[in-house]
Amino acid sequence: MGDLSDVPYQDLVAEMIRRLGDDPEREGMLKTPERVEEAMRFLTQGYDMSPRSAIGDALFREEHQNMVLVKDIEMYSLCEHHLLPFFGKVHVAYIPNGRIIGLSKAARLVEVFSRRFQVQERMTEQIAQALWDLVQPQGVGVVIEAYHLCMMMRGVQKQNSKTITSAMRGAFLDHAPTRDEFLRLTMTTHNPLS
Ligand SMILES: [Zn+2]
Repeated sequence: MGDLSDVPYQDLVAEMIRRLGDDPEREGMLKTPERVEEAMRFLTQGYDMSPRSAIGDALFREEHQNMVLVKDIEMYSLCEHHLLPFFGKVHVAYIPNGRIIGLSKAARLVEVFSRRFQVQERMTEQIAQALWDLVQPQGVGVVIEAYHLCMMMRGVQKQNSKTITSAMRGAFLDHAPTRDEFLRLTMTTHNPLS
């Protein structure tokens, strides 16, 4: 592959459009390279974020010893094999060991790892490991359910198949009732607040 590192991003996008058979100079697409650059930079901003900066100083002393579950965190990512979106819900749970994080921080943590090129399995592990390292709780459980456009748009057979991945640490691995409670809370649909 030739060295393209000096070629502006928008020229690369225009060339891609040309190679695929369309005209980046036509009216409707004139600003497309600019928009694509902006969109792709936004969708990959996780590369500039770290788990530590996402959680910041939002760690609080708290003797709460029961499971904290943040359910249905919206997630949008790009598969690293096709650069096509996969999206769905993330459920994050942990059992504190003297420290809790601000509730919105779980969502921030998901952004750190979803706003980049990913595979769902690795992202699940990364979110669990980051929480495990930063909060040092008694246990962590993460479940992600997602739809992959690379499967849905290209294939014909797997249109509605959802991919579910999980990662556990500590009590969620060692203590079956804890894991079962987490999975039950995660997998049952109920809308008590709506
Ligand atoms: Zn893919």
